Amino acid sequence: LAKERGKNNVQFYTDSLATQSARRFELETALRQAIARQELSLHYQPKVAATDGQLLGLEALLRWNSGAYGPVSPAEFIPVAEESGQIVEIGAWVLRQACWQMRAWRDSGLAVPPVAVNLSAHQFADNNLVTEIENALALNQLAPADLEVELTESVLMTEPERARGVLHHLRQLGLHVTIDDFGTGYSSLAYLKRFPAGTVKLDRTFVRGLPDDSDDSAIAGAVVAMAHSLRLLVVAEGVETEKQLEALRALKCDQIQGYLTGRPVDAATLAKNVLRPQ
Ligand code: C2E
Ligand code: MG
Ligand code: MG
Ligand code: MG
Repeated sequence: LAKERGKNNVQFYTDSLATQSARRFELETALRQAIARQELSLHYQPKVAATDGQLLGLEALLRWNSGAYGPVSPAEFIPVAEESGQIVEIGAWVLRQACWQMRAWRDSGLAVPPVAVNLSAHQFADNNLVTEIENALALNQLAPADLEVELTESVLMTEPERARGVLHHLRQLGLHVTIDDFGTGYSSLAYLKRFPAGTVKLDRTFVRGLPDDSDDSAIAGAVVAMAHSLRLLVVAEGVETEKQLEALRALKCDQIQGYLTGRPVDAATLAKNVLRPQ
């Protein structure tokens, strides 16, 4: 079709946008049934100590195996769920599922480190968030320290005053808070001062070039130094090579997450290969 119209880039662009929005609409429709059809699941990725590899935490990462479209990447369906507002219901499911899973692992005799869930801006703006978290914990006889939340600067930027209040509440309850994808937002430094968090997660765009890229090394080192002087921990995401790990260790980064130290895997695989008896 684009060829018939000649090299008309504007037309071509419009076509591809139309195709994109059709796909979005299809996914949005399919996503509406995803919970009821049990198409959603969680994978879990280890966070380990940079010094000795000890397991310190897990991150729950949502997976969608759609009956109609097969596995759909979170990079594709999370934005759809966010724009349609479905993320509020899906996010509540993630919270319940992660807590249920921790309880199931513990009941089978396994030691379980805190599990982190990712929160979207919509969830943060929802009045029920704190209650949902409290309920998910209570229902599964878990302590607030068993659960951690990860949020990006964009979540904090949407409604800063409100976000600050919610974070304070969560911290008071005893939840651990991590600022995800740190360094990619607009006002990283100011936000660190204003928002009560315990950990910053260095974005993988700054990990990728380690150790050879001197800019990445400088940024990673500066983030670690600044975070430590604010009494925050630093976890590096997207660590794929021994060299990156060594560089992060030398920079005194606290924790490591990435394919090198553990890919995200389903609950059964994690129990078999990663978790140890209590
Ligand atoms: P994120 O929270 O920053 O999660 C890290 C992403 O990097 C995950 O992608 C993970 O699988 C991937 N990853 C981990 N280690 C490596 C590595 O060594 N190399 C590379 N290249 N990638 C690595 P995933 O699972 O596709 O999730 C993408 C994003 O979707 C997440 O980014 C998060 O923003 C969002 N997401 C995932 N699950 C949820 C959820 O339950 N709720 C919400 N609101 N968002 C979620
Ligand atoms: Mg995350
Ligand atoms: Mg991240
Ligand atoms: Mg990310």
